[in-house]
Amino acid sequence: MEKIEVSKEMIKKLMDGVLSDQEVLMLQNSYKDHDRFLKYLEVLQERVPWDDKILMRLSEHVYIVQKKDTGERISKCTCGYEFGDYRVNWKLNCLINVRKTIEEMSEVYHPVPACPEPEWQEIREFFCPGCGTQLAVEVVPPGYPILFEFLPDLDSFYKEWLHSPLPDHGKYRFEDKSLTLIEKWSKEV
Ligand SMILES: [Zn+2]
Repeated sequence: MEKIEVSKEMIKKLMDGVLSDQEVLMLQNSYKDHDRFLKYLEVLQERVPWDDKILMRLSEHVYIVQKKDTGERISKCTCGYEFGDYRVNWKLNCLINVRKTIEEMSEVYHPVPACPEPEWQEIREFFCPGCGTQLAVEVVPPGYPILFEFLPDLDSFYKEWLHSPLPDHGKYRFEDKSLTLIEKWSKEV
């Protein structure tokens, strides 16, 4: 297999969906170069309006970043809204719309027989409190805990896969801290 150097320009074109068929084929057939993820982060960094360092992209608009001033690792929207500690499910800090009835569901599902079954399932839509962008949707049984889609082990990923440990390696225990926020809310009630 051929080893090729993938430029940032090529990564930009890949992200924008404008690579030629030939370039796609070349990417598919070649070894992945070691620093491609870091180059990808550089491209992402050039495209956001803030300068906290991106550590990982979670979805189209949500990133884990290292805050420039405090060094904290938090989840953050493209618009700049901060969801807090990345180990807390960022969806808990969203504005949430829940569709429970067939009328509410049929506004987003068509035709009606395609709708999830009310009482057995509900549709939850998550919006950024900062910019109002819809960031996620989940269809789950009523009462089901909000899905924490992805909690990456950042320290292991950077050290063992990228061979480039984060400067504060080991400072953040790899654990789901979502319950700490819910506990805080329960004390406020
Ligand atoms: Zn936002």
